[in-house]
Amino acid sequence: MASPGSDQRRRAMRVAVVGGGPAGSFFVHCLYKQAQERGLPVEVTVFEPKKFEHRGAFHCNFCQGVISAGLLASMEKIGLSIPRQVIQARIKSYRLITLGGELLLPVPGNQEIYTVFRGHGPVSEKAGAISFDQFLLDKVLAGGAVKTQVLIREIEIRRNAEDPVTLIDHEGRSYRADVVVGAFGVNSEIGHQFEKLGFGYQSPSTSSALQAEFRTDDDGILRQFGDEIKIFALGLYPIRFAVITPKRNHITVSLIGQHLRSEHLERFMQHHLVQKHVPASLETTAPRCGCSPLFPISDGRELAAEHCMIIGDSAVSRYYKNGIDSALRSAELAAEVLAEYGPEQAEQLRRYYTRRIKRMFSMDNSLGRVLFRVHDCISQLPSMARAHLEIARGDYGLTGHSRKKLHWLLWNMFSGDASYRKIFLHCLDPLLLFHIILATLRTHFTAGSESHLGRGKDE
Ligand SMILES: Cc1cc2nc3c(=O)[nH]c(=O)nc-3n(C[C@H](O)[C@H](O)[C@H](O)COP(=O)(O)OP(=O)(O)OC[C@H]3O[C@@H](n4cnc5c(N)ncnc54)[C@H](O)[C@@H]3O)c2cc1C
Repeated sequence: MASPGSDQRRRAMRVAVVGGGPAGSFFVHCLYKQAQERGLPVEVTVFEPKKFEHRGAFHCNFCQGVISAGLLASMEKIGLSIPRQVIQARIKSYRLITLGGELLLPVPGNQEIYTVFRGHGPVSEKAGAISFDQFLLDKVLAGGAVKTQVLIREIEIRRNAEDPVTLIDHEGRSYRADVVVGAFGVNSEIGHQFEKLGFGYQSPSTSSALQAEFRTDDDGILRQFGDEIKIFALGLYPIRFAVITPKRNHITVSLIGQHLRSEHLERFMQHHLVQKHVPASLETTAPRCGCSPLFPISDGRELAAEHCMIIGDSAVSRYYKNGIDSALRSAELAAEVLAEYGPEQAEQLRRYYTRRIKRMFSMDNSLGRVLFRVHDCISQLPSMARAHLEIARGDYGLTGHSRKKLHWLLWNMFSGDASYRKIFLHCLDPLLLFHIILATLRTHFTAGSESHLGRGKDE
């Protein structure tokens, strides 16, 4: 875009957002704020085929639905607070369950962590729930954006044209814009169309998950699941880890791994350590909803060009966690840079958006990969897993410093907001490493670890 005051500036900038998930809605919200501050007229259309007010997997954005404390704080900063009706559960603690025992990790201080649905709820949800995605999208629609309920199939960009961007939907209708913002996630075919635009964009590579939702009518079940997220690291290849997340009337079981199928879910649900945490009355053979979503495990390449920006999962995301928080970060930065420079300044979009957002994530994600490999090794070796938990529980008495460190590390690996860099540096603590080696040797030689599998002491 040219300088303020030019013809282009006087005409409203037409922004087409492909995808009305969190990244798309955060982007529009932030763009309106930026535009208002700069007196910049904008017209926003969000293209989104899903109806978040409908139940079932098709109208959902497939996710465990944990809203981290960091995300809540970032949302508050941009004037978004999650209404009560959207919150499914308020989480008080995480429970880490390994072959070497269990550890309860209470939510630190007065931090809030919520669970939400990403669609209207499973088909079995009687009243239906206001989903997180619906809440966000409704906010930006109330602010003036228009939602067009279609799937975009093709995109063309022609420089120096009156209508530089053309989008074509699944029925062949076309739409014109000055800039297209790709917020389509990684569970969509449209990424290939952005790749074909020729500016170098390449979708992130992905890994897969398997999710199932089970209904929990029984009061006892609700009490048991009400405020605790359970993380299972059981070395059950190909399941890397699994999480059970409580919702008001359901629990969501998420398996993370590669090539997961329904038999892996059955095997997981039947594992004796899982059974211990799932009341007999829960119908573990009959999930009410299910999906096999992908999630990104690397960064997209080239995220901006003339008239085009890519945000959210389809751009960059934190390795294995805080996906929605990552979506907010890329959306916020993209909105700021677009409002500042306009859609024609390719070099500025690259310099101030692509490079900055990559700097925020790339190095940190590399360290995340290393940390998760180490975690995989530990969870497959019961004596190591047990030694870790014994230190974290303070079983050896002598490990106050290491206990606190390990608590902090485990909390932040699975739920907290600390960067992987910070976690990595904490792992290098010499005293902690010494205690871990000592405890592992001790567990290995004295306890006869194999005979204790799954009978670790609870906190
Ligand atoms: C199993 C699993 C569990 C997760 N758990 C969590 C969690 O607990 N907490 C967390 O913070 N993150 C979690 N995530 C990550 C989180 O879901 C994503 O990071 C987040 O949804 C990314 O938002 P997004 O808007 O970029 O993409 P999406 O949420 O995928 O939204 C993309 C939107 O684009 C639309 N779209 C796609 N193609 C087109 C098209 N051609 N035309 C128009 N619209 C289109 C889709 O319908 C969709 O609404 C999890 C992910 C997985 C897979």
